[in-house]
Amino acid sequence: MVTIAERLDLAYARVEKAAQQRKFAHSDDHPVTILAVSKTKPVELIEQAYQHGQRQFGESYVQEAVDKILHLKERKDIEWHFIGPIQSNKSRLVAEHFGWVQSVDRLKIARRLNEQRPNNLMPLNVLIQVNISADENKSGCRLEELDELADFIHNSRQLNLRGLMTITEQTDDKNKQLQYFQQMKACFDRLKDQYPQLDTLSMGMSGDLEPAVIAGATMVRIGTDIFGSRK
Ligand SMILES: *Cc1c(COP(=O)(O)O)cnc(C)c1O
Repeated sequence: MVTIAERLDLAYARVEKAAQQRKFAHSDDHPVTILAVSKTKPVELIEQAYQHGQRQFGESYVQEAVDKILHLKERKDIEWHFIGPIQSNKSRLVAEHFGWVQSVDRLKIARRLNEQRPNNLMPLNVLIQVNISADENKSGCRLEELDELADFIHNSRQLNLRGLMTITEQTDDKNKQLQYFQQMKACFDRLKDQYPQLDTLSMGMSGDLEPAVIAGATMVRIGTDIFGSRK
């Protein structure tokens, strides 16, 4: 049986290989973090990944995630990222328990997270989710909405704007995939001109991490290839 540790090593090797390709193509070198997406998976598997050195974990379902975070609260160096859709009535739990939220796509949610983030915690790190492929089934703001949202988050005391996230349309067309990721990178660079502190471009999953890294992702979100398929 393949262990979580072996799967993590394989994922890091894939990222490393793609990062080398990017470096040759663009002489652009920066580290790429793997977010281990542990949604639907038990804390035992998170613990195995932790024992192998993994510290960043992503969750998509608020209540399930909060249970795991509380269970693992002794592991103070775990960085928890919320990556799922945020309903208004769940925003408080996200604001209270996570270090990062990658799926902010509208003003209403940004405003609630800012108000609900406890004052004794560091500002919540925020990525704006962009619907780059304008896929009707995906959440994320449209490109036209990005500037207003970025401006609001930047000016919110309890939020710390760190960058952008995207989930692209499922497609087998490798060129199209790469194009979406390149559009995101251009969008990120443009926003970074305005907010130089931005440092995180989260894109690419188990099936498409290579084109994402080649296009300039600083973080890829890997679930299946680390923890196995989900039901
Ligand atoms: C589930 C999920 C992932 C992980 O997808 P895999 O294909 O299992 O690697 C990445 N990002 C988001 C936003 C997710 O919801």
